[in-house]
Amino acid sequence: MRKTPARDEERYEELKGAIAGLGYFRYGSLTRRFMPCGKAGCRCQASPPQLHGPYYQWTRKVVGKTVTVRLSRQEAALLNF
Ligand SMILES: [Zn+2]
Repeated sequence: MRKTPARDEERYEELKGAIAGLGYFRYGSLTRRFMPCGKAGCRCQASPPQLHGPYYQWTRKVVGKTVTVRLSRQEAALLNF
């Protein structure tokens, strides 16, 4: 059954609204990490260790190569993390 042009127009406006409501999105993956440093006697070397962080990393493919960048907490929040 053929849809009327009015129905298509309505559907188009509905989908357009859904896209506008998406906000920021990303590809690749985000990781949240806690890490030790190299300083002797630091709390991260204690038992149990208190690691530094959180650090946010965004990993994705750029022209076929894997690229990882560190993000600030604010940048990670923009990417819904
Ligand atoms: Zn440390």
